[in-house]
Amino acid sequence: MQRYSDEIIEEVRQTNDIVDIISQYVHLKRSGRNFFGLCPFHNEKSPSFSVSPDRQIFHCFGCGVGGNVFTFLTKIEGISFIEAVQTLAERSNIQLPTLNSSGDEAKELLKSKVYKVNEYAANYYHKNLYKPESKIAQEYVKKRKLTSETLESFKIGFSGKFDELYKELKNQGFEEKEILESGLVNKNDKGQYIDRYRNRLMFPICDVRGKVIAFGGRVLDDSKPKYINSPENVVYSKGRHLFRIKCCQKRGYQANTYCRRIYGCNISSSKRNYKCSSTTWNSINTRTRLVT
Ligand SMILES: [Zn+2]
Repeated sequence: MQRYSDEIIEEVRQTNDIVDIISQYVHLKRSGRNFFGLCPFHNEKSPSFSVSPDRQIFHCFGCGVGGNVFTFLTKIEGISFIEAVQTLAERSNIQLPTLNSSGDEAKELLKSKVYKVNEYAANYYHKNLYKPESKIAQEYVKKRKLTSETLESFKIGFSGKFDELYKELKNQGFEEKEILESGLVNKNDKGQYIDRYRNRLMFPICDVRGKVIAFGGRVLDDSKPKYINSPENVVYSKGRHLFRIKCCQKRGYQANTYCRRIYGCNISSSKRNYKCSSTTWNSINTRTRLVT
């Protein structure tokens, strides 16, 4: 497996102060030489999570988790080591050499295509919200007092009927493989393609790099299920990811607009500078509970 040289990894590490990075997720307070806060990896009421600026490491006395800035990012974002290096290099404007992918080439290609499908779908749903035939969704967001600013910054959308998204994706030249892998469209026993999300208010879920990795869809009436979410696929893993719904507007890594309560009726609270740290949403159930 290809990897970056130790020198460049070290350069990336040194140009990303661990206190700066962790502060984006955890409210840290200085105490002596170190900083303390509530551990984002286990539930606690008094801070046992410490960060050492001198040693550039973190350690939790409660659950034992610890490591450097890369360790922190891989754990909190559910990304690989290489992705953590890339994310931090981008943040500090370090140009990384291109890695030649090995046996995973096909998987990487599929991944990049699924990201494109997701990105396209997020824009499609968002535009759809403003169409005349989406009156029901427009009325819903109005009733929920979601401003156009909120709708824009979270790129909230509305999914169409039966196979509208599928047809649109095909028209755009996407292939069946990436369309089905995205989980946005299902193929039934009769060989018909059906959009997974129909007549739902749509919330794109992004990773730390701002890439759309999944969607949540909420019904506008009393039908069940109230929420559905993307299935796991090459770009999205429920168990592994620590979810944050991120403002999908490209605001860069420093964006502090992550908001766990965007999803549903509590979204309006995000407008009031609702700043939240990263949220552990390991299952749909947890997430649904947060927003019901
Ligand atoms: Zn802990």
